Amino acid sequence: MLRSPRWTNGCAGVRREQGAGVNRSRMTGIGMTSARTRDRLIARLREQGITDANVLERIRAVPRHVFVDEALASRAYEDTALPIGHGQTISQPYVVARMTAALIEGGAPRKVLEVGTGCGYQTAVLAPLVTTLYSIERIAALQVRARRVLRDLRISNVFMRHGDGFEGWPPYAPYDGIIVAAAAMAIPAALLDQLGNGGRLIMPVGPDREQQLLRITRRGESFEQEVLGPATFVPLLQGLS
Ligand code: SAH
Repeated sequence: MLRSPRWTNGCAGVRREQGAGVNRSRMTGIGMTSARTRDRLIARLREQGITDANVLERIRAVPRHVFVDEALASRAYEDTALPIGHGQTISQPYVVARMTAALIEGGAPRKVLEVGTGCGYQTAVLAPLVTTLYSIERIAALQVRARRVLRDLRISNVFMRHGDGFEGWPPYAPYDGIIVAAAAMAIPAALLDQLGNGGRLIMPVGPDREQQLLRITRRGESFEQEVLGPATFVPLLQGLS
């Protein structure tokens, strides 16, 4: 079903600039961030089997270069994860597109929980496709940075929390959708508890090199499982940093 050999993921570190927000000149779409460069990325995602027009439009619209360090901006529209600090990398566009499509297929969920905000790229792609997005990140510095970038992009339906995704975010549960950007040996019980009836959870599960991306759909007290394909994600870690 998936033509891409393996899904890789990660999240961005913090950019060097402090307090200034996103440099406007980097958001204007010139040079390496041109429409043509973005079109090439969209064509590649189509070739790899991404068909959802809303998802492709979001990938085209979100300026991925503002989520990465300036030194890496020229590579922002390549379909690769880019490492930039805190032992993390920004998610590969294909992975973001595929996970987003798997989550919204058959009708967009209204209330969604995201675990692993990272740089906020997946958050920015997904937010306009749902009513409200709740996003948790365990590394404070990343969370602060993501908050600033999302604000500069005028994305305003996202609530962010510095917390441990193993615990979910109980006050706003149940969620119509849950998307987890890091892998664990099993789906945390709290996340299954917080998934509403009919809700979908997308998460990579399994040991290193043998992870599988799963889609879980809640049917009352039982959970239906689909295997979407092999994956390579950073680990879901316990506690805060
Ligand atoms: N979605 C991000 C990529 C995230 S990489 C993007 O679009 O770029 C995975 C992220 O999950 C990392 O930022 C990591 O710090 C975070 N993470 C790992 N374990 C976590 C946990 N238990 N709770 C919350 N976030 C966690």
